Amino acid sequence: MKPSTRSKALFADALKYIPGGVNSPVRAFRGVGGEPFFVDRALGARVWDVDGNELLDYVGTWGPAILGHAYPKIVQAIQRTAEQGTSFGIPNPLEVRMAELIWRSVPSMQKVRMCNSGTEATMSAIRLARGFTGRDKIIKFEGCYHGHVDSLLVKAGSGALTLGQPDSAGIPVAFSNETVVLPFNDLDAVRRAFAAHPGGIAAIILEPVPANAGLYLPRSGYLEGLREITEADGAVLIFDEVMTGFRLGMGGAQGKFAITPDLSCFGKIIGGGLPVGAFGGRADIMDCLAPLGPVYQAGTLSGNPLAMAAGLAALEELGQGEWYPKLEARGAQLEEGMRQAAERAGVPATFNRIGSMFCGYFTEGPVWSLADAMRSDRDRFAKYFHGMLAEGIYLAPSQFEAGFISAAHTAEDIEATVAAAAGVMKRL
Ligand SMILES: *Cc1c(COP(=O)(O)O)cnc(C)c1O
Repeated sequence: MKPSTRSKALFADALKYIPGGVNSPVRAFRGVGGEPFFVDRALGARVWDVDGNELLDYVGTWGPAILGHAYPKIVQAIQRTAEQGTSFGIPNPLEVRMAELIWRSVPSMQKVRMCNSGTEATMSAIRLARGFTGRDKIIKFEGCYHGHVDSLLVKAGSGALTLGQPDSAGIPVAFSNETVVLPFNDLDAVRRAFAAHPGGIAAIILEPVPANAGLYLPRSGYLEGLREITEADGAVLIFDEVMTGFRLGMGGAQGKFAITPDLSCFGKIIGGGLPVGAFGGRADIMDCLAPLGPVYQAGTLSGNPLAMAAGLAALEELGQGEWYPKLEARGAQLEEGMRQAAERAGVPATFNRIGSMFCGYFTEGPVWSLADAMRSDRDRFAKYFHGMLAEGIYLAPSQFEAGFISAAHTAEDIEATVAAAAGVMKRL
């Protein structure tokens, strides 16, 4: 690695003008120590920092870059669209194509509304569920992150994990009082909560595969159980698929696990790397939105042509190619290699993976919940992170983030990653 002279100078400047020097907290490297590097450009599976270091990237802009960075068809779509104007604030044809494509890929999305971030999507879905049911309480799960929405920022994983409860100052206790927080993968806890608040719970919101406290999977029967409980009670089941949507397949987690939620939230991949979000689901619920119904929701830049063009290019490409089997193969290769590397190095570790999402925890495991994830040795992760970075491999700078493989990662890239990890783990 070349010395990070330019990154250091930029960070010193950034600290003067931007709180903590960053526009989103986890980027500040507080979870691993040290200072962030600044990116100059990115292509395929690689990013180059401003000091000329080439890094193999497993962050993929936190999920969106599933086809790799600067994917030519996406870049061309943005360029062509920009020449026609960058924002109209009145309907444009790309919005209709996007809605239709989402509807075609995810059958539960009978109607969809576009917005500008995953946070907006979950915030709006919660408001809609409350407006539809006339109830106030929301159930969320420990370790699930749904963006920085006031009432959802309780035990919210990743960036917020080291803080107390509620996870952020500035949220009235009255808000978080309407949020019931339960451990993930525990159906009895959900049944008890429904018994304690009869007719009071508007919705359950969850990441069907929680990927913001590392990564863990739903136990067999868990998602089915949530579907049964909400259906019997008349509460709305909301899948937050901002991370898993179009990542685990064209149908997202709901396609993979064959569950039909009432509402779903999307973001990340569906914007092809531009700011975007979407929420949708049952037509009778969605029709409660203004201008048809009494639940207000709006956005000056919602359905923005550049974001629609980039997202459409990404989704159309994903829908055509044999991308998902390829991503699965790379994921399996990484999983196998990392498990062996940890075992040979004698490092207690648990490697969770589904498709092209993964997380290695430094604990014996298994990891099924936030409580399990918290057993991971975070000092060891910090050493591992910096060791890998020195080898030119960029992992998310926190134990509580998932890693992402893109279609641009080759079998050789994975092999090199495993070899580097084997060396780094021996020195932990
Ligand atoms: C990233 C993420 C969000 C928030 O999306 P933003 O675009 O960052 O606001 C919400 N839910 C999940 C599951 C996410 O991974």
